[in-house]
Amino acid sequence: MKIEILQPVGYCSGVNNAILKAIKIKKEHSNKPVYILGSLVHNSHVIDSLESIGITNLADNTSLEEKISSLNDGSIIIFTAHGHDEKVDEIARNKNMIIYDCVCPIVKANMSLIKEKIASNYNIIFVGIKNHPETTACLSISKYIHLYDAKTNVFEEFDTKKKVFVTNQTTLNFKELEDIFNYIKEKYPDAEFNNEICPATRIRQESILKIDDDVDTVIVVGDKNSSNTKRLFEISSFRNKKASTYLVSSEDDINTEMFNNKNHIVITSGTSTPREVINSVYEKISKITK
Ligand code: SF4
Repeated sequence: MKIEILQPVGYCSGVNNAILKAIKIKKEHSNKPVYILGSLVHNSHVIDSLESIGITNLADNTSLEEKISSLNDGSIIIFTAHGHDEKVDEIARNKNMIIYDCVCPIVKANMSLIKEKIASNYNIIFVGIKNHPETTACLSISKYIHLYDAKTNVFEEFDTKKKVFVTNQTTLNFKELEDIFNYIKEKYPDAEFNNEICPATRIRQESILKIDDDVDTVIVVGDKNSSNTKRLFEISSFRNKKASTYLVSSEDDINTEMFNNKNHIVITSGTSTPREVINSVYEKISKITK
């Protein structure tokens, strides 16, 4: 039995920075409650570990406005790694809140680019997954941003005399995005395209596409709410039709039946999956396939 862990593993830089920043903020306000307005990153192990040091993730389905309204004046709040509608900052400032932002620099740069293009009188097409926080944040910038929903392929064409700029959520399937960009190019031949798939997402997707043909089992370790983890699962399921692909959040999701008559197992992981979780999955598989 061969068991491989695909590189890279562990946190991407955006997730790592967000976690370290949140821990530092809590240390600076050790005697006060600290709230994250959503899930800092999409991984339940990370959320649990932040909760264990007294950071509350307000990860329910309420809007940012509702979350801020539910907190006391002067609360310490953190915005997540996915970006947010900056108009709500005003509501928080009016409640004298202490505001921190853990947005990933790559997402932030994309949002800045969108703002520049809007200021230069462009219409924007944003390719993203509807209701994902990064997509919601980018769409909040202007009414001149039109969503192409990468999950459902729903897109409402629009007439425009303005120039068109096309950009995307950072954690999409890079192959699917090429097809979507080609489709949009047919509709808007003069559009300018900016591929924003982040390097951490792209490298992991490319490495799952390059695995040996004799791999018969792929284990994707990550959270079911993590966009880049779900893309890895989809790509592996599509690319390796003869192999069985499983998405597991921890060693608890691993069972003996997954490996009956299997010979070559590959483990990959999302960008917010802690290294310890990947190691424990590896150890459990090693034990039960010995
Ligand atoms: S997956 Fe990419 S965009 Fe998302 S936090 Fe990591 S580096 Fe940033």
